[in-house]
Amino acid sequence: LKRFWEENNMCIFCKIAAGEIPSSKVYEDEFCFAFKDINPQAPVHILLIPKAHIESMNEINDDNAEIIGEVMKAIPKVASLIPELKDGYRVISNCGKNAGQTVFHLHFHILGGSEMGEKIV
Ligand code: 5GP
Ligand code: ZN
Repeated sequence: LKRFWEENNMCIFCKIAAGEIPSSKVYEDEFCFAFKDINPQAPVHILLIPKAHIESMNEINDDNAEIIGEVMKAIPKVASLIPELKDGYRVISNCGKNAGQTVFHLHFHILGGSEMGEKIV
């Protein structure tokens, strides 16, 4: 039953974290997985995800707060691995339709490698 569930209920980012779909891995620990975005919007564009399937920022709650804390702690670790991020980076998480979320597995875009200007959007 566990195997059936895993094969049929894993989203694309669950499969990337499990290594079932190949990706350019940047960082991995017990709770998190980070990989290069397939369609980069900046010179450096990394996606950081929890290994657990959490749909979006709207699903963050007391039950998964420890996982979320681990994901937040992974941000500076990922940044420290990429020399192009040493002068700074931007972190974005799109939540829901109006923000343009397309993959419903919580992810943080880590963007950098050039000056992005003061405006966020
Ligand atoms: P969203 O629009 O949901 O905030 O971001 C989803 C991101 O996932 C997009 O930037 C898109 O390029 C990226 N993406 C979608 N599918 C794949 C994939 O199979 N591999 C990788 N590396 N990135 C993906
Ligand atoms: Zn998932």
